[in-house]
Amino acid sequence: MIDFHCHLDLYPEPRAVVRECASRGIYALAVTTTPSAWEGTSELVSEANRIRVALGLHPELARERRSELQLFEQLLPRTRYVGEIGLDGSPEMRSFWTDQKYVFDRILAACRSAGGKIMTIHSRRAVTEVLDSLESHLGAGTPILHWYSGGSRELARAVDLGCWFSVGPAMLSGEKGRKLAARMPRDRVLTETDGPFAMVDGHTAFPWDVDFALATLGDVWEVDKDSVQKTIDDNLRRLTQSWQHRSWI
Ligand code: MN
Repeated sequence: MIDFHCHLDLYPEPRAVVRECASRGIYALAVTTTPSAWEGTSELVSEANRIRVALGLHPELARERRSELQLFEQLLPRTRYVGEIGLDGSPEMRSFWTDQKYVFDRILAACRSAGGKIMTIHSRRAVTEVLDSLESHLGAGTPILHWYSGGSRELARAVDLGCWFSVGPAMLSGEKGRKLAARMPRDRVLTETDGPFAMVDGHTAFPWDVDFALATLGDVWEVDKDSVQKTIDDNLRRLTQSWQHRSWI
């Protein structure tokens, strides 16, 4: 199983979750919400060879942690994965929109200067603005829109811009999410949980809850779960190879 967007460092017992991932053979991308969390998270997973760490600055923290942009740029050469980054257009986040936009654009510019990164991107209620920023920073890398919740016209625009998508149990538990997933190109879909923020069946999502996403994608695509898993594995392999990364899976 592959959890391409989870916050491993934010579980109450992160080491236990990392151990469980190892024993289940799960591949995970541990995203961070601040540049200052990157070193500690890297240390947390240093013995887990199926886990990678992404360097992020979450849009919700754009004002509070804008001062960490310098640290972000310092650390960037040490990782191929960036996230969680993006924009959030929810009413309570709009109050610091200027900071969000500044941080996101500066990160995209840094990724472009670095030759491109694999980026996991938050776009809640701001898909148009996220796509506008990506369009003005072509060459920043491969964007993976995580937990996409926009409309279908924007989804088509995202596909044209080369975006990938990561979908999880919380998104796929609703009719809207399943309809969107059906419109995503199958060769650009990965699975995620967004744990511990997301919930599955009333409990905090753990990386192994990706299993539910595999089953639901099987229903949406009308194929069995094993075939979904194979597609997702192939996708991750192709994604990393396209950046000439050492084989991850
Ligand atoms: Mn997240």
